[in-house]
Amino acid sequence: MLQITCPGCGPRDETEFSYGGEAHIARPEHPEQLSDDEWADYLFMRTNPRGRHRERWCHSFGCRRWFNVERDTVSYRIVSVYKVGEQPPGGQP
Ligand SMILES: [Zn+2]
Repeated sequence: MLQITCPGCGPRDETEFSYGGEAHIARPEHPEQLSDDEWADYLFMRTNPRGRHRERWCHSFGCRRWFNVERDTVSYRIVSVYKVGEQPPGGQP
């Protein structure tokens, strides 16, 4: 089981959290100008890297805040935890 450090509450078991998918997916500024394929890409297409991955998590059974986690998908090791709107402390993977 993962130990995730919530920025507001500290280290907690993974069971207190909900996974929210890939982080840093920005909503298009003018969605009405996108083709159906571009809109589908925005909604459904996500990276699936082997290695460092930036993810959104919510402390559902705690403070209920969303935050970002950078995690290695091979070892499951959490590299960093940072607030929504920030970039990971180590920079781009
Ligand atoms: Zn929390």
